[in-house]
Amino acid sequence: MKNEQYVCLVCGFNMVGYYPDECPFCGAARENFITSEECSARYKVISAPVNDKVSRLNSQPALGIEHAAYRIETGEGSCWIDCPSSFDASLKPADTIIFTHHHFLGASNLYRDLFEAEVRIHQEDSAHQSARRFSFDVTFSTNFVQQGIEAFHVNGHTAGFTFYIFDDILFICDYVFLDGNALKYNPFGPVNRTIAGGHRIREILSNRQLSKVCGYNYVIEYGDWKKRFDNKPLYSGF
Ligand SMILES: [Zn+2]
Ligand SMILES: [Zn+2]
Repeated sequence: MKNEQYVCLVCGFNMVGYYPDECPFCGAARENFITSEECSARYKVISAPVNDKVSRLNSQPALGIEHAAYRIETGEGSCWIDCPSSFDASLKPADTIIFTHHHFLGASNLYRDLFEAEVRIHQEDSAHQSARRFSFDVTFSTNFVQQGIEAFHVNGHTAGFTFYIFDDILFICDYVFLDGNALKYNPFGPVNRTIAGGHRIREILSNRQLSKVCGYNYVIEYGDWKKRFDNKPLYSGF
């Protein structure tokens, strides 16, 4: 099939141009895959406002463990932080798609073509096996500021993990999970580097006045999140 692409319903991973027996990301069996076209027919991407410049994007109905993506109207073009797994051609175009890391690249190859968007990811994560079939226009290796979005490379959960701050909003993706009244480090990565990266995040955030945190499946008040983060997130595997 030309342009074949499959989506894993367990994790949302897009398999671009191949049809493996198991999902290369989560290991689910082939019975859990649907074509990208079928995915677009079954799932829409809905947008929920975070504030007047930022909105959250999620597939609806929920698509496995897909992580939220966020859209920012920067004033110098629109930017997505991360990308939905389902391809919904009715979404407003974005000029740029910037990734926190290589885990949830979603249907970024299709959105890149549709929007003629520039896709950015840290160089270390662009080289990862699961990112091989995706196209990146810019691979960065240092911190940067683009369209008012500040990028901070952490090298924790993944080697290229990068978090972002825009205005008073922190985009942290899945570095930490909400866990009752606490936070828990993401256990799917190297333990020592994840915890050391947490210390660097804490340093970067000291003296920052922020209002909200946009995470992989939550948006919460920064004060609440920071209190939990300062209490040292736990690290426990599953
Ligand atoms: Zn999967
Ligand atoms: Zn991750």
